Amino acid sequence: MRFYFPDSQDLVSPAYDFLRDEYPPHRVRQRDDLYAHEVLEKAPYHGILVSKAIVDGSVKGGGKYTGAQRARLQRMGVNRFFRLPSNVLTLGDNGAFNYVEEEIPPVTVAETLDFYVESGFDAGISTDHVIFGYDETAPLGDPAPVEWQERRALTLRLAEEFINSTQDQGVSLDPVGAAQGWSPQSYADSVRRLEDLGYRRIALGGMVPLKTAQIIDCLKAIDDDRRSRPDGWQPAELHLLGITRIDSMEEFAALGVTSFDSTSSFRQAFMDDRKNYHIENTSFVALRVPQVDGNPTLKRAILAGTVSQSEAIAAERAVLKALRAFTGAPNEVRGCLDVLGAYEQICGSKKSYLDAYERTLTAAPWLHCSCTLCRKHGIEIAIFRGTERNKRRGFHNLSVLADRMDSLSLPQRKSIDD
Ligand SMILES: [Zn+2]
Repeated sequence: MRFYFPDSQDLVSPAYDFLRDEYPPHRVRQRDDLYAHEVLEKAPYHGILVSKAIVDGSVKGGGKYTGAQRARLQRMGVNRFFRLPSNVLTLGDNGAFNYVEEEIPPVTVAETLDFYVESGFDAGISTDHVIFGYDETAPLGDPAPVEWQERRALTLRLAEEFINSTQDQGVSLDPVGAAQGWSPQSYADSVRRLEDLGYRRIALGGMVPLKTAQIIDCLKAIDDDRRSRPDGWQPAELHLLGITRIDSMEEFAALGVTSFDSTSSFRQAFMDDRKNYHIENTSFVALRVPQVDGNPTLKRAILAGTVSQSEAIAAERAVLKALRAFTGAPNEVRGCLDVLGAYEQICGSKKSYLDAYERTLTAAPWLHCSCTLCRKHGIEIAIFRGTERNKRRGFHNLSVLADRMDSLSLPQRKSIDD
């Protein structure tokens, strides 16, 4: 099972000064900042997924790349641009989520293929159009919603054009067909047609909103359909777009899934209310110590005169000092909670995290983590504060996911003849 990490230009500054909360004076972001595979001992993913919409921008707005970065990606190629170790794979994608509201994709097959080939991707997903909706009872044709039928037909047409173009142009890119659907039957039919077009890899899109049981229903329908194929016929490998669900990975693998991509373990580090710091079997809330001048509520209170700026700064410093002195000893937990509580009050926090903090401090998981970042930065990784700490915690989460993937006992895919 391979895990691809979707790139959003998430880097950290290796020389960031945590004590002063300052960047090195002569930092040049694109030269000095590092990707997860550069700060961790071992790349925490088997591949990266780069979306054309993230690079080029889309109808919904600008991409994450500056014009200069876009040009460098094209000039240097994806491997050198990301300074990838030779064992990390690259997969290109359109970013169909970014134009889901459009009637038709604002990008042509030729543009998609040019993007993949010019940047030197190992593999690329055909141009597609996401179907937002799931109804397991809706048939393949009428009365299923016309928009769903049209998007599926268009996705299949574009996939045909895509694989034909890769063959006509003789490119070395590994073509991956995009399958869209709204039910087990429609996904199974899409997969069958893509296999008939010659695809050896197929990415299943539009499944992010689905419940795990619904994803499994679709995979089972695909698997059932494949059993009617002749003896010796080889099924294409399946990729789940945007799906982790690690607890179901073994079942997914038994039904033909060989890869997936997801940002969730990274993003939970700073987007989730509770599951910020992951360990093998559970997760912890990170210790929120916002910067006085980076917290809008606190800033307003200071300007309104209800909070004294010097008191706020003193409370912030007291928390950081106590946390940095924390050795993990049980008798030190109460002191840390007291200063965290005092700063929570000054910040005017709408809710208290103190119970969750007690659990985090008691477990002190950063003391037991063997990842390069926790070993180097200790408790700083567990502090919710600014992009440098938050992204490092996200990278740590990726390394935990990678270890969990490695420890899964994935069953061999059942053969079609069973
Ligand atoms: Zn770690």
